[in-house]
Formats: sequence, C-alpha cells, structure tokens
Amino acid sequence: MGLIPYKNEPYLDWADESNQRAMRRALEEVEGSLGKSYPLIIGGKRVETDDEIESVNPSKPSQVVGRTGRATEREADMALETATSTFQYWSKTAPEARARILLRAAASMRRRKFEMLAWEVHEGGKPWAEADAQVAEAIDFLEYYAREMLRLKDGVDIYSVPGEESRYFYQPMGVGVIIAPWNFPTAILTGMSSAAIVTGNTIVMKPSEYTSVIGAKVAEIFEEAGLPPGVLSFCPGYGSEIGDYLVRDARTRFVSFTGSVATGLRINELAARQIENQGWIKRVIVETGGKDAMIIDDSADLDAAADDIVKSAYGYSGQKCSAASRAILHHDIYDDVLKRVVEKAKALKVGIPEAADVKMGPVISEPQFEKVSGYIETGKSEGERVLGEDPGDSENGYFVPPTVFEVEPKARVAQEEIFGPILSVIDARDFDEALRIANDNPYGLTGGVYSKNRDHLERARHEFKAGNVYFNRTITGALVGVQPFGGFGLSGTDSKAGGPDYLPLHMLARTVVERF
Ligand code: NAP
Repeated sequence: MGLIPYKNEPYLDWADESNQRAMRRALEEVEGSLGKSYPLIIGGKRVETDDEIESVNPSKPSQVVGRTGRATEREADMALETATSTFQYWSKTAPEARARILLRAAASMRRRKFEMLAWEVHEGGKPWAEADAQVAEAIDFLEYYAREMLRLKDGVDIYSVPGEESRYFYQPMGVGVIIAPWNFPTAILTGMSSAAIVTGNTIVMKPSEYTSVIGAKVAEIFEEAGLPPGVLSFCPGYGSEIGDYLVRDARTRFVSFTGSVATGLRINELAARQIENQGWIKRVIVETGGKDAMIIDDSADLDAAADDIVKSAYGYSGQKCSAASRAILHHDIYDDVLKRVVEKAKALKVGIPEAADVKMGPVISEPQFEKVSGYIETGKSEGERVLGEDPGDSENGYFVPPTVFEVEPKARVAQEEIFGPILSVIDARDFDEALRIANDNPYGLTGGVYSKNRDHLERARHEFKAGNVYFNRTITGALVGVQPFGGFGLSGTDSKAGGPDYLPLHMLARTVVERF
C-alpha cells in the first residue's frame, strides 16, 4: 500500500471564525438529536434489550444525551459467540485489507469531526479544545495502527544459522474484550478497538456507562468504514452486570482494559483463573490510574512552570490519568510558584463547555462529583486550601472549582487518585527530596520536571518512576506515535498505546525454522 508518512492530526485553530461557526452548528445539530436510542450491534444486527442505559449531560444532568442498549449476560454471550465464529474469517483476512478499514475509519472520523466534538461536549462535558485533542488522538490511533500493521505484517528480522532459515512473524490471537473508561470516550475506545481489529482479532466492545452514546458513534464509524459484521460487537452494559462474565468466559482470549486500578486488578485476577474448556492463558492489557507529579526546581522558568502546572492539573477538570495532581516545589521558589499557580488557576473560566471561552467544564457524573467533593473535605482537614470553595448543588451540573491544597507528602489528597480539579502542592527541601516524594507513590504514569539543571534532568530521566516523563512542558496530551503512553507500578502493564510495541500485544508470535 502506498501511504503518505504518518503525521499527527493537526488541532483546530479556534481563532479561525469558520471553525467556530462549524462548531456552533454541530452543537446545535447534535442538540437536535439528543435523547435517541442506540441498540446493541451484534453480527451487524441491531439488538434491542429489555432495559437501557440512560446517559446524561454532566453540565445539565436533567438533559438526556441518549439511551443505549443495556446488555445482560444473554447478549454478552451472543456477542462472544459471534466474535468466536467471525474470528475464523477475519483472522484470515489480509493485513492490508484490515489496515484499509482503519484508514477509512480515520477518514470518516475526520469528516464527522465537528459532530464528534459536539458529542464530546454534550456527553463528556469537554471544552472545545479538549474535545478536539481527543478526536485528533482517535484519528491518530487509526492512522498509526494501520501503518504499524503494514510494518509488522511479514514479521520482523531475526538471525538464522547456516543451512537453515528462521522466520519470526505474528498471527491473530482470538476474541478480545475491550473495556473503556469515560474520560477519553472516543480516543481510548477507538485506540484499543482498532489495535485489536487490525491485528486480526474480533472484539466485544464495551464503552463506559457514562459515555455509551459516544461508544455508539465510534461503532457507527467502524461500520461506515466497511468493517465486516461480527468483527466488532457493540455491547454497552454496566461493568457490574456483564464485566465479570465477559472476562471469565472461556471464549475470551484477551482483555484490553483502561480504567481504575480496582477494576483493572479485578480483571487481572479473574482472567488468571482457569475455567472449564479454557484453552489458553488469557492475556490481559490493563492501563489504570495515576497520581502524577510535577517537580519544579530552583533553576526553572517559574512562570512557564506555573502555566504548565495549571494546564496539566485542570485540563478536562483534572480527569485525565496523566493530570498533574501533585506539584512538588523547591523550597526557595515555593511561595513564588504557588502564587502564580493560584492566580492562573483562578483565571480559568469554568462553565458549560458549549461556550467557546469555557476552559473547564464539569466532572463527569454524580458519583464522581461526590467523590471529588469528599476529597475536598479531606484536603481541608489535612492542609490549607489556598484556592477553591465548596462545590455547589449538583442539580445544576457537576461543577467543582479549581482547587489547590498545601499539604504534606503523605496526605491522602497527595497520595490517592482523585480524578478531579484538585492540586496538592508540596514543599521540598531540595531536588533529591522532591524526587523522593514524587516516587513515593504506588502509581507511576506520568511525571514532569521543570529545571535548567542538566544533572537534575539526567537523574530524573532514569529515576523518575513513571512511564511517561516530560521535561520543561506539560505532562498531559501524549501524542500517538510521538509519546507512546502507559504506566509503571499500579498504573498498568506499561503497554504503551500509540507506540511500536503495542500491536504485538494483540498477536501471537510464531517462530518457524526450515532446514535446507
Ligand atoms: P472504571 O470505573 O474502572 O471503569 C472502566 C470500565 O470498566 C468501564 O467501562 C466500566 O463499566 C468497566 N467495569 C466496571 N466494573 C467492571 C468489572 N467488574 N469488570 C469489567 N469491567 C468493569 O474507571 P473509569 O472511572 O471509567 O475511568 C477512570 C479511571 O481510568 C481513572 O483511574 C484513570 O486514571 C483511568 N485511566 C487510565 C488511562 C491510562 O491510559 N492509564 C487512561 C484513561 C483513564 P461501567 O462504566 O459500566 O462501570
């Protein structure tokens, strides 16, 4: 296939009036389609269920964004059966043909970009730029994994001994269960699904209950791209109702999961148990949470550091696994940076993200609102709140203001993943202590250092316990193909989505040796 070289999908320029107009139009059009129902899709057929999942707008919880089917074990069984039979055919489909489907899906998503952005605003509560970055990431996954499959389709080079030919190549694995979170409902769902599909597997795709309408849109896009029926079954349902069933089943060959550490560990445990008729050790790809830290030392550009702390901490209301939730400041510049962070965070416009100038929307749901509000109470008892106030009534949207606490490193708000707009600021005597504090946490997803000191940067390059370490910049927004993403420690299995090692996780490697 003659393809142009991979490059990241450019972000939209919101200073361009025509983009603003297109976005407003899309928001109106999508608003006109709110409240519709989206059934399951199994083997290409729409499957109605007895009950539905109702998805609401987190900025206006009384507004129903849409309803999707709600799979029970019966439908989960149908989806696994369909995936099992379709695997016979799809696994033998040429890698080029599979890659072509991803490229077509990328084209379709590009065509429908503003519409997808509008769903992100209504269902995910994302400000425009956050929604754009996320849909661009989804397109990147499709484009990148298509090319990766073409790179890997004939295997990779190994050595042979004289008189023999050794070949090393990959083959599809089987039925995959794809379980996604709500915080990147287009990008992560598309990324995990497309990697599994392009490598020749068939999948049961389960979106988060909070963003199941976006899940339906992603499924539609794969259909539009010409993905044959049965390769992807769209199977929304509550994790608590069908999750264990899908993971345990003997037909499941692998599980690709992104979400909380509690669910990830449960999946890991259940998948490890052998059950009757199971013919393999299930493979589990689990990517989970973070308690990501930014260290600012005394040589740093303090204003740029404060800017990037604020962007990393409050982008999408702190609901990114990569979000900065700890700022560890060298004692000598502590007061200065804290003051700048507070000023900049205070200036963020919080509101309903349908408006172009809103920089921070709500948190995703009532349970998330309650959880984050609870941590605000905890933080108040553990340290000093230097920015933020108690959240208002959640009936008018799940809004939580940007919040900053000054705390000790071992405070719960500085140790546990909150997943909201709450930043813990910690005083460190020197760089050694700052690095020790940063690493003293079971997670290890992203991290950053702001410094002009080469020794500090080189130490952090090797010693900062995180899968993704960034110097003198933000720590969020990993670019596909440029910043492969995945964590250490309790943050996951380090699968590095969007990187060169990702697709082989979805395949079986085969060594074939022929003696001449
Ligand atoms: P979650 O509660 O663990 O849910 C994730 C997915 O798992 C949802 O689809 C959920 O379904 C499903 N699920 C729930 N119980 C299950 C079970 N017993 N078996 C199988 N699946 C089950 O996480 P979340 O709140 O959606 O997402 C936020 C978390 O994801 C944060 O911890 C964040 O750090 C992490 N995250 C990590 C990355 C990364 O790359 N490392 C990226 C993004 C997010 P329901 O929606 O129906 O409950």
